[in-house]
Amino acid sequence: MHTILPHMLKLGSYEAGIRPQNVREVIKLNQNENPYPPSPQVRGVLSKANWQELRCYPDPQMEELREGLAEVYRVRKERIFCGSGSSEIISLLFTVCVGHERRIAIPDPSFSLYASVAAVHQAECVKIPTRDDFSVDVDGLLECGAHAVMLVNPNNPTGVQLPLAEVERLVKHVKGLVVVDEAYIDFAESGSSAIPLIDQYEHVIVLRTFSKSYALSGARVGYAFANETLIAALEKAKHLYNINVLSQRLALAALSDQEYMKWRAALIRRNREWLSSQLRQLDFHVVPSQANFILCSPPPEGPYDARALYQKLMDRNLFVRYFEEPRLRGYVRISIGTDEQMKCTMDVIQDLFGE
Ligand code: PMP
Repeated sequence: MHTILPHMLKLGSYEAGIRPQNVREVIKLNQNENPYPPSPQVRGVLSKANWQELRCYPDPQMEELREGLAEVYRVRKERIFCGSGSSEIISLLFTVCVGHERRIAIPDPSFSLYASVAAVHQAECVKIPTRDDFSVDVDGLLECGAHAVMLVNPNNPTGVQLPLAEVERLVKHVKGLVVVDEAYIDFAESGSSAIPLIDQYEHVIVLRTFSKSYALSGARVGYAFANETLIAALEKAKHLYNINVLSQRLALAALSDQEYMKWRAALIRRNREWLSSQLRQLDFHVVPSQANFILCSPPPEGPYDARALYQKLMDRNLFVRYFEEPRLRGYVRISIGTDEQMKCTMDVIQDLFGE
């Protein structure tokens, strides 16, 4: 095919978790979605929505949503950008800051979208292995001479968090762009966000999303905090109407109910600790997580390895994540669900691994 650029023909397609046929009949713990519904405020917006409004284009500047974010996160509106999920913001950053023939560095393992988007943009992606305990090797990231460093904190799929002081050390020494993707930060200990760094450093951008703690994966809204110049550049590169009318309002409604979001995040944290301790009792190795998922590996002397466990769980309509990358082959990633989902998961695992 001569119509397609050669590097695009060579690329594999991006793999998200398997999407089961009937989502309602299975326990879906493979994409780090929130197991709880979004805030009742979101339902309120949906039930009052006027279909006639769809006739008109949405506000391309997303003034109301950005004002809402400015108030909650105490960041000036000019320093806030909204995208169709944080995924769109990741792509835009390659357009605006990386370009082709440049080198980015990411820890390995990390969220695979970064390497995929780098490949689409023909940017070189250097993967710096995390240490044995999956902690990020900041020196390794600094020494590889990349033009941009992209950090997920807490990391996906490990759940490991890099302390803020280490994030700042990275920011201080990298000359190019530093992305701090905080998709899972609401499940971590408070006070660990890199948002305050944007006041001091012009080359930092902090990414967030409504997909996880706000339970709005389906609405596709992400947001970012950075200095005005970087935000203005992203504005120029985005599709004019990148977030639809309804999604803008759903996100604003979810944002307005901080109490609900924090309550649900606390339940998820509690269930994460419960699941981790239950699995440890069965001699699983569980990586300490600050996110809404855990990475764990079954005991080497047990009846099933990670791949077999993943299959066995799927046979029982329980979907978790298994990765083919060598570093992750002994592990499965389990998103944290409701009490009932966690109990059911443990019942099945107990059945498979208990005496
Ligand atoms: N960043 C990280 C670390 C993620 O894990 C995900 C989704 N799994 C995203 C970004 C993308 O989220 P969204 O596009 O739904 O905002």
